[in-house]
Amino acid sequence: MKNGVYMPNGKTHTKINIVLLFVILLSLHTTFMQTHIPPEYLEFDAITIFSLALIFGTYYLSPDLDIQSEPFKRWGILRHIWWPYQKIFKHRGKLHHPLLGPIIIISTVGLLIIAPIVILFNFKITCIPTKYIISLLTGIIISIESHIIADTIWTKTKRKSNKIKKKLNGFHTTKS
Ligand SMILES: [Zn+2]
Repeated sequence: MKNGVYMPNGKTHTKINIVLLFVILLSLHTTFMQTHIPPEYLEFDAITIFSLALIFGTYYLSPDLDIQSEPFKRWGILRHIWWPYQKIFKHRGKLHHPLLGPIIIISTVGLLIIAPIVILFNFKITCIPTKYIISLLTGIIISIESHIIADTIWTKTKRKSNKIKKKLNGFHTTKS
């Protein structure tokens, strides 16, 4: 199926991910309140990095980078780094794979964006605390997985409703 028929559009994915972020933050808050952990143990900075990463991932690191999607266009001049994937993979191919998708997307950014910055500006990446890197990666991975799950559910329900429609149509035509 061509783009648009069997999948939620970009705006739907953005909405789903924002709602998901709120649900995660709310459940973190509830857990925190229930466990009576002193506020100084609250990893506020790590949670902020996680939230920003999830939002950034939603807008820029969507598996729909395999087509001329909104996230693809948002990259501006840098969008060319994703162009090979549109040529090699079909839409909803490797970039929509639950394991390969995040690996390919994250390593592309790592190799083509982060690595050159680190080398050019002699940036000490090892200075970044591990917990921040984990928060960052978790946020991005959740944004990608949520997209893949939404696409899968959407396709399944669409297929089912189409089957029912076909059956109903068949029923009507045989009747008349
Ligand atoms: Zn998709």
